[in-house]
Amino acid sequence: MIKDTGGCQCGKITFELWGFNPEYSTCHCTECRKWTGSFYACIAAKTNQYKISGSEHITWYLKNPNSEQGFCKNCGSAIFWRKNPDAGYLDFAIGMLDTPKQLIAKHHIFCKYKANFYSIPKDGAAHFDQWD
Ligand SMILES: [Zn+2]
Ligand SMILES: [Zn+2]
Repeated sequence: MIKDTGGCQCGKITFELWGFNPEYSTCHCTECRKWTGSFYACIAAKTNQYKISGSEHITWYLKNPNSEQGFCKNCGSAIFWRKNPDAGYLDFAIGMLDTPKQLIAKHHIFCKYKANFYSIPKDGAAHFDQWD
């Protein structure tokens, strides 16, 4: 079974993941760029596929009723995204994983909003101008 561990830059928030889908999405939207400084790439784990330690250090930024971003209030690492607290899954930024070896690029979304300072990698994943 796929397993991984990860955490924020300062280490106050750590997590374990298991059995999750190894396919990751990369979002190139303006909001993710402002949030992370570049783009946001994440895997999604269902509620029974992860355990978070130090969750009292998470600050949730409610971007709109269908989008919440979770970051470490101590070091600022941009870690989590969820549709809402009851969505049944949580997105984890793959840059927070300790040993991200088994991940597979699934798709690039909101490509039309991509910044001009980088190119989307040729990783075989599908490109979408928008999403949903
Ligand atoms: Zn931190
Ligand atoms: Zn985005």
